[in-house]
Amino acid sequence: MNKVTASTCCYCGVGCGVLIEHDGERILDVQGDPNHPANYGRLCSKGSTLHKTGDIAARALYPELRLGKAMGRSRVDWDTAMEHAAQVFGTTIAEHGPDSVAFYISGQLLTEDYYAFNKLARTVVGTNNLDSNSRLCMSSAVVGYKRSLGADAPPCSYEDIELSDCVLIVGSNMAYAHPVLFRRLEQAKAENPDKRIIVIDPRRTNTCEIADLHLALQPGTDVALFHGLLHILLWEGWTDRAFVDGHTQGFDELKSLVRDYTPAMVSSICGIDRDDLQTAARMIGSAPSFLSLWCMGLNQSTAGSAKNNALINLHLATGQIGKPGSGPFSLTGQPNAMGGRETGSLSNLLPGHRDAGNAAHREEVAAYWGVDSVPASPGLSAIELFEAVRVGKVKALWIACTNPAQSMPDQTLVREALQNCPFVVVQEAFGNTETCQFADLLLPAASWGEKEGSVTNSERRISHVRPAITAPGEARADWAIVCDLARRLEKQLRPGQPSLFGFQSPAELFDEFKGLTAGRDLDYSTLSHALIDQLGPQQWPFRAITGHGTARLYTDGHFATDDGRARFVSEPFIPAKEQRDARFSLTLNTGRLRDQWHGMSRTGTAAQLFGHVEQAQLSLHPDEIRSRRLRDGQLVSVRSRRGEIILPVTADEQIRPGQAFIPMHWGDRFLKGLGVNVLTQPAFDPISKQPELKQASISVTPVALP
Ligand code: SF4
Repeated sequence: MNKVTASTCCYCGVGCGVLIEHDGERILDVQGDPNHPANYGRLCSKGSTLHKTGDIAARALYPELRLGKAMGRSRVDWDTAMEHAAQVFGTTIAEHGPDSVAFYISGQLLTEDYYAFNKLARTVVGTNNLDSNSRLCMSSAVVGYKRSLGADAPPCSYEDIELSDCVLIVGSNMAYAHPVLFRRLEQAKAENPDKRIIVIDPRRTNTCEIADLHLALQPGTDVALFHGLLHILLWEGWTDRAFVDGHTQGFDELKSLVRDYTPAMVSSICGIDRDDLQTAARMIGSAPSFLSLWCMGLNQSTAGSAKNNALINLHLATGQIGKPGSGPFSLTGQPNAMGGRETGSLSNLLPGHRDAGNAAHREEVAAYWGVDSVPASPGLSAIELFEAVRVGKVKALWIACTNPAQSMPDQTLVREALQNCPFVVVQEAFGNTETCQFADLLLPAASWGEKEGSVTNSERRISHVRPAITAPGEARADWAIVCDLARRLEKQLRPGQPSLFGFQSPAELFDEFKGLTAGRDLDYSTLSHALIDQLGPQQWPFRAITGHGTARLYTDGHFATDDGRARFVSEPFIPAKEQRDARFSLTLNTGRLRDQWHGMSRTGTAAQLFGHVEQAQLSLHPDEIRSRRLRDGQLVSVRSRRGEIILPVTADEQIRPGQAFIPMHWGDRFLKGLGVNVLTQPAFDPISKQPELKQASISVTPVALP
């Protein structure tokens, strides 16, 4: 007899509830959960085909070990695998210090997995060398919120999408990347044609189909555009002086900065018509409520932090925050990027929205864990980490649930690092990812539908992820693998001391972690898996006394800064370093497609999901194709200063002349040669350390056929 298990979709940060139909051994169907407040029964093409993915042939089923780089891996039992891993990590730490090892984890992990990794790195190992692929995704938004509002806390709820009178979407193709939220917006616009929607994006994406105004800015010029909009808002008297005076600091400095960002200057920098600038400012300034939604177009940039703060400035200047339909609302790319931020899964963070660089925060965490201290030395962020591996400073690397040999920029250097690293462990559900080929030890992990824990979506809502079936082969839950390693390392590094890793279930990990949120901005110390089951998914901060979470933050105008005032951040527009020139005359943009997810380890197993776009292509404006004497479908060589790939070219009116687009999903499993990230640059934002994945200069030439 078939059963139904309520859980959460494993793809994007919308965090849709799903109902998994199964017979205890196989997942048979997936439907949207009508009771989940993220989606109310809706699912997109990816979520609704979850049961058609995860082909067993693509799964890692047994631990595999090789004892030399030139050897193939052989199947071993779990005890042999984990004893070997613990021995190599323990010896490396003993000989070269705790910072000679590192962990690179993922926004796909559950909160309990994240927490186990964090505690292991910061206690038993004693390093802050723990970073996540969320560094490539959300670290600029983290900086933006903290600098402006005092805490890494998106202040809005999904219902604000329906309630807002003016929605500004920046650097986000929601129609493809967050489809269920886009459907909510589309329906709200259909019901209220007076609702204004502005899209800021270099491409005319499918999201623009419901926009009243599309500002096709030149790539990387967002800060100039936001300052230009504020200039007009000030000139027209569309700011909220009472809110600014009562609840913020730093406005005068920002006012003098944006004085220079005249419509004429901004129009010339951004390539946008002056009238369109004026129209956008009027829509924002005259709307009773104003919501902004953004994603990778702002975050993945060497100016990612400045872009985030310049956008948040618009909300503070207009007082459009902390009320229904208003606020700055970053959309998280991955299903549990938020959980990673909560548990401190970036090298500069600690659990409970604490900072590794803050001595008082370190003391609080150490006291909670019952250890003398947690490490003070700065950890390495993703780009820095792989560079440290490449030059031999990091000698043992543990990678979980992510595919850096496809997703990191400047693949040539990343692969050199993985090739040269003395010991690489890959803990992964899918055994065929590009990164698995570099694994000295491959550990099979349980995947969606097979594991339990929790995730937090973009609106701070925590859902219980429940297993429907058992994992195939010998795959184990991620948290269990980490705790096993921790207990083995404790014998070497903390002999005779009681174990810090006696956890028997994800619920026990959740219950320990939640104590670290007590009294913090994200406080959910009274929540539990059982309470989520009883009350449904809840938004943090959550207090048991009210019996529900918090839909909106800063409703009283009191922010999470020391003095309760939000901060205007005044930073000028700085052009991206790598610009088009005679040799590399096109600006490359990268991004998602509607039916694929990340490196396609899961979506790449379902033929149906190739029906939308069959293969990786270089998209150029038809005029570019004509002027370069290319033909639609022709194979071209795409080069940047870092590498080359060969793809068919296709004409696309969505792209402006001078620009180009390649989807991020295809790696060398699907292409001859490496994926798009052989072209992208490792330059990163100096504060958030998020790399510039959205902009690279390229050349395009026809491939000479033999
Ligand atoms: Fe899954 Fe995101 Fe689609 Fe919802 S919108 S079904 S979370 S991929």
